[in-house]
Amino acid sequence: MGDDRRWLFADQLGDHFLDGDDQPVVLVEARSVLRRRRFHRQKAHLVLSALRHRAAELGDRAVFVQSGTYREALDRVAGPLTVCHPTSQAAVAFVQGLPGVAMLPARGFTSTQEEFAAWTVGRGRRRLLMEDFYRDARRRLDVLMDGDEPAGGRWNYDQENREPPPGDLGLPRPWRPEEDEIDEEVRRDLDRWERDGGMRFAGRDAPRAHPATRAEAAAALRDFVRHRLPSFGPYQDAMLAADPDMAHSRLSPAINLGLLDPMMCVRAAEDAYRAGRAPLASVEGYVRQLIGWRDYIWHLYWHFGPDYRHSNALGARTPLPRWFADLDADAVEARCLSWALAQVRDHGYAHHIVRLMVLGNYALQRGFDPAELAEWFHRCFVDGYDWVMIPNVVGMSQHADGGRLATKPYASGGAYINRMSDFCGGCRYRPARRTGDDACPFTSGYWAFIARNEELLAANPRTARSVYGMRRLPDLGEVCEREALRGDEPP
Ligand code: FAD
Ligand code: SF4
Repeated sequence: MGDDRRWLFADQLGDHFLDGDDQPVVLVEARSVLRRRRFHRQKAHLVLSALRHRAAELGDRAVFVQSGTYREALDRVAGPLTVCHPTSQAAVAFVQGLPGVAMLPARGFTSTQEEFAAWTVGRGRRRLLMEDFYRDARRRLDVLMDGDEPAGGRWNYDQENREPPPGDLGLPRPWRPEEDEIDEEVRRDLDRWERDGGMRFAGRDAPRAHPATRAEAAAALRDFVRHRLPSFGPYQDAMLAADPDMAHSRLSPAINLGLLDPMMCVRAAEDAYRAGRAPLASVEGYVRQLIGWRDYIWHLYWHFGPDYRHSNALGARTPLPRWFADLDADAVEARCLSWALAQVRDHGYAHHIVRLMVLGNYALQRGFDPAELAEWFHRCFVDGYDWVMIPNVVGMSQHADGGRLATKPYASGGAYINRMSDFCGGCRYRPARRTGDDACPFTSGYWAFIARNEELLAANPRTARSVYGMRRLPDLGEVCEREALRGDEPP
C-alpha cells in the first residue's frame, strides 16, 4: 500500500501508476502546455477529458489543481510527492529540479529500463535489432510460448501479414464513446480559451472518438479483440479509402494516456488465440507491435539521448510547406496524400502505414526538416508524445539518424502505394509514370530522392539496387528537374 501522495501526469491515468486502492493522488491540468504548441483540437480535448474524468472518478482521494503552469500547481500542493518516471526528457529534467518530489521507475511499458540495458549488452550484440528484442520479450514475459518454443513453431508471421487489401474487409465500425457532461465542459473551455485566451488549435473539432476512462478503454479493447483482431495480421500494411481503420486496434491513444496497461492488451489477444477465436498470425502480429515495437521505441528514446532529436544525416532542411503544416487536404490532388492529410485534419489519427508510407514517405522524398516534421506529428496526432514521435519520425520515417534505428529509409514510389491501397484508381496521376503531366509525385519523388542521396544509399546493401536502377533511368534528368520545379507546391 502506498501512503505517499502520488502525482500522476496526464499520461499516467491507470491504476498501474498507483500502489493500492486508497493512495492519495495529485492531478494537475496546466494550461501552459496547450499554449506552448498548436495541438490538434481533438488531442487537446481527449487529454483534458481523460484527466478530468480521472479526477472525477478518484473524488476525495485526489487533489485536482487546474492552473496556469505546473509550477504554480505544485506550489499550491504542499508536502512531498512521488511520481512515476515521466515520458519526456523535458519532464524528467523538470521533476528532477523539484524539491520534495521523488521519482519512481517508469510504468506503462512491458519491460523495465534495467531489462533493456541488460539486453543491449547481451552476448555479442552488435546491433540493437527489434526482432532480437522482441524474441527476448516473448521469452521473458512468457507470451505466445509453448514451453521454450514460440507457439506454432515460428517467431514471425510477417510474410503472411503483408497482403494487399481486398475490396472490403467487411468489419463492423470500431467502438466509439458517448460524450458526457465532462466533454461538454471541456468543449466550452477550449472554445473560450481559443476565443479569449490566445490558444490556437490545428485540425477540426468532432465528437470524441477515443476512450477517456479506463472503463471505456476496456470496452474498446474487448471490441477490438472480438471483431478486428482476427483480421489484424493479413491487412496490417494495407490502406482502403473507405475504411480508414481497417483491422487496426485504435488503442494507442488509450495506452499512451495510461488508461490501458499494454500487458492487458497482450494477454487479451493471447487468450483469443488460445480459445481459437483469432488466428496465430494475427495475434503474433499484434503482440509484436506492443511488446516489440512499442517498448523498443520507448527504450531507444532514452538510449539515444537528448541530441538524437537533432539528427539530420540526410541534410534535410526543407521547411514544411504551409499546405502540409496546416492540413490543407483540399489543396492536394494526389489522392493518397490528400486522403491522409484529411484523416489528420478530421480525426488526428491515421494508421501506421498511412503515417509511414504516405505522409512520412512524401516528407522524406522532399527533404522536410526532420525536427520540424516530428513536431508536426506530435501536435497533430491524438496519440503523439515526445518519446514515441522522436524515434518514429526522426529514426524510422526520415532516416535522419543515418540508420541507427532502421536499416534502410522507408522511401517508395507509387507502385508500392498502388499495390497496398485502392487510392491510385481514382487519382489524376498514374503510379507508373515518372514524367509528364500525369507523373505520380511519389514515383518521381522517389527517384529524385535516390539521386539526391546516391552516395549514401549506394553504400547500404539494402538500397544499393535502387541506386543501380536509378543510374539506368534514361530520363532521370527530366525527373529531377520537374521535382525541383515543383518546389513546395502541393502535388
Ligand atoms: P495498431 O496497428 O493496432 O498496433 C498496435 C499497437 O502497437 C499500437 O496501439 C501501439 O501502441 C503499438 N505500436 C505499433 N507500432 C509502434 C511504433 N512504431 N511505435 C510505438 N508504438 C507502436 N505511435 C504512437 O503511439 N504515437 C505516435 O505519436 C506515433 N507516431 C508515429 C509517427 C510515425 C511517422 C510513424 C511511422 C509511426 C508512429 N506511431 C506512433 C506508431 C504507430 O503508427 C501507431 O502506434 C499506430 O498507428 C497506432 O494505431 P493503432 O493503435 O491502431 O495501432
Ligand atoms: Fe498517390 Fe501516385 Fe497513387 Fe495518385 S497515383 S494515389 S499520387 S501513389
